[in-house]
Amino acid sequence: MRQVDHWIAGRSVPSSSGRRGPVYDPATGEVQAEVGLASAAEVDMAVQAALEAFSPWRATSLSARAEVLFAFRQLLRDHVDELADLITAEHGKVHSDAVGEVSRGLENVEFACGLPQLLKGEFSQQASTGVDVHSARQPLGVVAGITPFNFPAMVPLWMLANAIACGNTFVLKPSEKDPSPSLLLADLLQRAGLPDGVMNVLQGDQEAVVALLDHPEVAAVSFVGSTPVARSIYQHGTERGKRVQALGGAKNHMIVLPDADLDLAADAVVGAAYGSAGERCMAVSVLVAVGPVADPLVEAVAARVAKLRLGPGTDPDTDVGPLVTGQHRDKVASYVEGASAEGASVVVDGRTTTPVGQGLEQGFFLGPTIVDRVRPGMAVYDDEIFGPVLSVVRVDTYDEAVALVNDNPYGNGTAIFTRDGGAARAFEVDVQCGMVGVNVAIPVPVSYYSFGGWKDSLFGDAHMYGPAGIDFYTRAKVVTSRWPDPATSSVDLGFPRTR
Ligand code: NAD
Repeated sequence: MRQVDHWIAGRSVPSSSGRRGPVYDPATGEVQAEVGLASAAEVDMAVQAALEAFSPWRATSLSARAEVLFAFRQLLRDHVDELADLITAEHGKVHSDAVGEVSRGLENVEFACGLPQLLKGEFSQQASTGVDVHSARQPLGVVAGITPFNFPAMVPLWMLANAIACGNTFVLKPSEKDPSPSLLLADLLQRAGLPDGVMNVLQGDQEAVVALLDHPEVAAVSFVGSTPVARSIYQHGTERGKRVQALGGAKNHMIVLPDADLDLAADAVVGAAYGSAGERCMAVSVLVAVGPVADPLVEAVAARVAKLRLGPGTDPDTDVGPLVTGQHRDKVASYVEGASAEGASVVVDGRTTTPVGQGLEQGFFLGPTIVDRVRPGMAVYDDEIFGPVLSVVRVDTYDEAVALVNDNPYGNGTAIFTRDGGAARAFEVDVQCGMVGVNVAIPVPVSYYSFGGWKDSLFGDAHMYGPAGIDFYTRAKVVTSRWPDPATSSVDLGFPRTR
């Protein structure tokens, strides 16, 4: 059985904890590897390696750091297929989608390549007579990243590119469900010239996370995952005086107004609801149909769903791959079961869809599903399902649609489809979500903006990557200086004045 190890101080380190977890091939249901699950002692080993690497790395010139990132960017481009293959093998998403994930992660490396510009401070000459003031941004030290299963390359890249660019050293704790892509990232960083110890990968589960949060040498924690875990990580980390950003789950609504182009909206919602089998934090899981658009829209979506092919992510003809584990597939399917019992109408039931391909009988498949006439209060609406299940909520007016989004405890992404610029602008201003799409169903910001939800989708005040990432991974320092003539010096007990 293939063993998935840690990567500490520039080399592969097998786990000595005696605890291991299965890594499945989601398409066949077979266990394809075992991942070592770190103990607190192994966490300490990784943090110490990062601590040792910190002083020399923070002293490395900005241009030398940028050179490493430029080289890493090229290596990522050269290995995009290899990385995508690893993602497909362990996550299950289709290969083209995995390539898309890597390319959106790559953007973050490209952003971080601009670090000499990004880390510039400010300077005020003559702030007072003969006194100058300047600011600098300095790294925090050892920072940890804890990432979810659904983007095993992109989310680590959201964090590590900026963290390292800013002069920090990094300990990544990827999801134990798909741990291998992060090891390839670490290997490519080493090949790009990153000194050993600056980037470490610690495989593990809750035990490793708790040890990272408790470790006194971890200065900051970036987390992406589900809301209950995000909330507890934020509380636990901040209680120990750490800087924490914790991004949680989502329930993203896409509103379709009666004037929208029906085909455009139907194409968009199918991609956003079923791409990556719905295992995206920015997936559309609620379609809000306003007024008379509901019947034709549900019909148009169902017609498109009928043409989607369920199968292994390795098959180029597959549209929708398996879910990540059998347990998760069963949980998602239970919402479809529950929806009928709660009075919703299952228009397309993915539990009856058979995947196309050989040897897939034990795979974790669930076909694209449409549940119509869903209402708040039903579990299918209230919970984050994280699978290929699209709920349709019918409302009469635009105001009802916006209220639905604003009343939802999550506030990650949302979208409106309309040809009315005034309605779109009002939506943009009034909706309570961190990321908004206007005729764009998955409004994931480009890397030179930042990513973050509102309400229960983010704990802490720092959004991730882009300019917010540079702020998160640095501390501001302000220096006030003067070079007076000692001959003019005298004792002055007054508070320093600027005028
Ligand atoms: P998860 O919360 O189960 O796990 C995330 C990470 O936390 C993993 O590394 C896991 O090992 C660790 N973990 C799990 N349980 C823990 C616990 N009790 N204590 C400490 N650590 C724990 O999430 P997941 O299932 O891997 O990922 C899917 C979730 O992530 C969904 O809710 C999705 O919406 C969310 N997500 C959010 C974003 C975003 O940007 N807001 C992006 C991607 C995924």
